[in-house]
Amino acid sequence: MSTIIYPSPIFGPVHSRRLGISLGINLLPADGKVCSFDCIYCECGFNEDHRPTLPMPTRQEVIEKLEAKLQQMVTDGQLPDVLTFAGNGEPTCHPHFAEIIDDVIRLRNQYCPQAKVSVLSNSTMIHRQQVHDALMKVDNNILKLDTVDPLYINKVDHPNGTYDVAQIIDRLKAFNGHVIIQTMFMRGQCQGESVDNTGEEYVAPWLEAVKAIKPQQVMIYTIDRETPAQGLEKATHEQLDTIRDRVIATGIPCTASY
Ligand code: SF4
Repeated sequence: MSTIIYPSPIFGPVHSRRLGISLGINLLPADGKVCSFDCIYCECGFNEDHRPTLPMPTRQEVIEKLEAKLQQMVTDGQLPDVLTFAGNGEPTCHPHFAEIIDDVIRLRNQYCPQAKVSVLSNSTMIHRQQVHDALMKVDNNILKLDTVDPLYINKVDHPNGTYDVAQIIDRLKAFNGHVIIQTMFMRGQCQGESVDNTGEEYVAPWLEAVKAIKPQQVMIYTIDRETPAQGLEKATHEQLDTIRDRVIATGIPCTASY
């Protein structure tokens, strides 16, 4: 099994399929993973296989390392298209996530004002007012909604604790359109059970939720790297294109990554 644990707090820049030249900001420990989900497709691997021994980086550490990296990129004449909060787990788990967003926006404005600030999050902390307010300030508030089927979520995303999909949808609506929905579609099996969410029984209710949330955009994608669980398969181009076109037909922009 080949999984990725990213450097922390800054990594890259890397070329992202969805985001362009992206400088990564990883608010999780450098030697393991911290996430409120434990997705069977996570490129960082399963939580229990990557328990960290190091702490999360401090707010000061994030800012100092980011500023040094941006200064170097300015000197090299290679500025990022986007500063992306991602890495070894869920960025909104960091206790100072909101303050760090403010710091990063300030540094972006100072060093690379054309760059976007993006956050990739699994949506589990958006009930916290500070997290909601911070996400309202970023350019690309990219929030996961893999399905609206609770059984499927439990089988595939493995939330730690309670995950009430109706509440998540309500909180996604509360962004009043300042949100990009990100959804993984895949096929195959895990431990003898189907994990295929490309069928109508999954797509139709998911599409209804998307229409209710009214996001500025939807990003659908499929497995791109080796996964910790065996038996998972990519959704086909045709399946992704069909789902993408159904979203676009509702008037919401949608991209598919294969
Ligand atoms: S939400 Fe993201 S980081 Fe967390 S387990 Fe799922 S894929 Fe991995």
